[in-house]
Amino acid sequence: VTLAARGPVVAIHGGAGTRTQAMREHKKEWHVSLRAALDRARTVLEAGGTALDAAQAAVALMEDGADQLNAGRGSALCSDGSVEMSAALMRGSDRAAGAVAGLRRTRNPIAAARLVLDSPQVLMVGASADELASAAGLEQCEPGYFVTEAQLARLRAGVARDRAGARAADVGAGPVDVGAGPADGGTVGAACLDADGWLAAATSTGGLRGQPPGRVGDTPLIGAGTWADATVAVSCTGDGEAFIRAGVARQLAGLVRCGVTLEEAARRALEDVAALGGAGGLVALHASGELVAPFLTEAMPRGVWRAGQAPQIVS
Ligand code: ASP
Repeated sequence: VTLAARGPVVAIHGGAGTRTQAMREHKKEWHVSLRAALDRARTVLEAGGTALDAAQAAVALMEDGADQLNAGRGSALCSDGSVEMSAALMRGSDRAAGAVAGLRRTRNPIAAARLVLDSPQVLMVGASADELASAAGLEQCEPGYFVTEAQLARLRAGVARDRAGARAADVGAGPVDVGAGPADGGTVGAACLDADGWLAAATSTGGLRGQPPGRVGDTPLIGAGTWADATVAVSCTGDGEAFIRAGVARQLAGLVRCGVTLEEAARRALEDVAALGGAGGLVALHASGELVAPFLTEAMPRGVWRAGQAPQIVS
């Protein structure tokens, strides 16, 4: 197989979670957002761009796509109603990595992650990370820009549900659509393979709805929620604490390096998440062009484009 025959490939996800009422109602918007992100990455790769630029471009577009996706504007809200965003980017060719956590002002966290990737550091946090982005000319927004009505409503409903939780359990009420945790999904990620056969991965999130300010999940942690090397690129979504403790993305890559098939490696890594009481999903792209996108949740909107084929979106 020549390199040109197996690439380029773009795989994206829009977060693991439940198939909420909101998701059913806005299925069209979801598809439009995911399709636009796929097309953006595809344009980069067809012009001979790198997997890193393609993954960054796809995620930036999903950060801007307001209400459907939990990244950038429209992020899930912290318990106090604020937004704190995290993102990571990794290049497989040399394992250069950049990540940011706790951003409150930078419009595109993934662009800030790219700045870090191009610097000697790997992870930058909080106001200093926003300042770094600002100094480099990345657009800064008032904190209110990121807060949407839809997320405010979800936060309120989640709080109300948590208060009613004990009583609801007593009467045997079924699960509600708007719980805390990764229930509504929406974290975004991409894994890309370019024409030269190199991989990259990118992930961006507002974290878990109702999280305490300062909490950081797996997304910006290299090897937990995001990873790329010469063999495999991985972007995860789900219960961040379990993904961190399972070291999911790096674990998967390590298994593949030891000769385990991509599918089996992804299955084992998610099994480890489940053993810790977590749920979620991931996309994992192999340098051969093979792609898997398993998830333990009810749904994980995702899309794939391969050179010479029509783009596919599944939600
Ligand atoms: N993994 C993200 C976090 O824990 C949330 C998600 O994927 O929905 O912050």
